[in-house]
Amino acid sequence: MIAVIGGGVVGAVVAFELQRRGLEVTVFEARLPGAATPASAGMLAPGPEGLSGAALEDARAALALWPDLARALEAHGRGSVGLRFGMMRARSVPAHEDDLEAFPGEGWVNPLAVRDAALKTVPVLQQQVLRLEPVERGVRLHSARHTHTARAAVIAAGAWSANFGLPVYPLRGQALLLSAAPYPTPLYAAGRYAVPRAGRTYLGASVRATWDTRIEAQETEALLHGLEGIFPHLRGAAVLEARVGLRPFCDQGPLEGAHPSLPGVWCATGHGRHGTLLAPLTARRVADAVQQALAALSA
Ligand SMILES: Cc1cc2nc3c(=O)[nH]c(=O)nc-3n(C[C@H](O)[C@H](O)[C@H](O)COP(=O)(O)OP(=O)(O)OC[C@H]3O[C@@H](n4cnc5c(N)ncnc54)[C@H](O)[C@@H]3O)c2cc1C
Repeated sequence: MIAVIGGGVVGAVVAFELQRRGLEVTVFEARLPGAATPASAGMLAPGPEGLSGAALEDARAALALWPDLARALEAHGRGSVGLRFGMMRARSVPAHEDDLEAFPGEGWVNPLAVRDAALKTVPVLQQQVLRLEPVERGVRLHSARHTHTARAAVIAAGAWSANFGLPVYPLRGQALLLSAAPYPTPLYAAGRYAVPRAGRTYLGASVRATWDTRIEAQETEALLHGLEGIFPHLRGAAVLEARVGLRPFCDQGPLEGAHPSLPGVWCATGHGRHGTLLAPLTARRVADAVQQALAALSA
């Protein structure tokens, strides 16, 4: 068995990729409050996010993998994961139809639908892994009441990957579900974005370095401040819900290789603002590495 620690969008897509390759996988998911995936806007947006260099190349490579991933998840008969194309950034505010920059190859998904579809294809144990112990030909996972032995483990524990000695830290984000009918595509303007979500508009997002996952009235007010002057179509919208998630940041970019000190353990974490976008690329890289290591062990 390959153990994947964390069932957010990254762990779920890694687990799906491993099982697609014929490996036996179990996901360990603790359901910690403040996971990033339930708050994610789901944009697949290398362009408007202003990425450059290797980060932009990776983002584009990940974007190219999304149609195949969406098809493969949907082929399991669990409904749509909401992959759509189209992306706009306003050149000036208020955002106006006549002055938008289009990113037609970019798009968005429903991150929770992706996570749930992927997790339906593998066993999921609701346990918090507290410690990893390398043993001969594998890794032992210790939770409060159980011990499991895996051939390999993948840490996809979001911001909590820090508990396994990785240089990951939380950058909290708060976003709002508004009652307003959406613009047809995600729309960026003046540091905010408005994304279609089930006939409504998802507005994001704050950024703050903290583990605090409480809804903050101040952050809600800041998101709504001057909104009509940026997105006129959101005039008079009511706030239906606020969501908070801890983005797992790593200063050196996503960690997708072997754990620095635990043999038999791989990393799939540290994606910061782009974990939804990057999940299929990370899954491919981590699955390649795990497969190669297992092949070497059995040679
Ligand atoms: C407001 C907001 C908007 C965003 N918008 C976008 C966007 O538009 N596009 C994009 O690409 N990204 C976006 N992101 C970033 C994206 O959400 C994250 O990068 C991504 O969700 C990270 O996924 P993850 O699986 O690594 O972490 P998480 O989703 O945080 O999942 C980690 C999981 O691990 C579990 N866990 C932790 N420790 C343990 C343990 N010891 N044992 C068992 N389980 C454990 C937790 O319970 C959790 O479910 C956004 C984030 C926020 C907050």
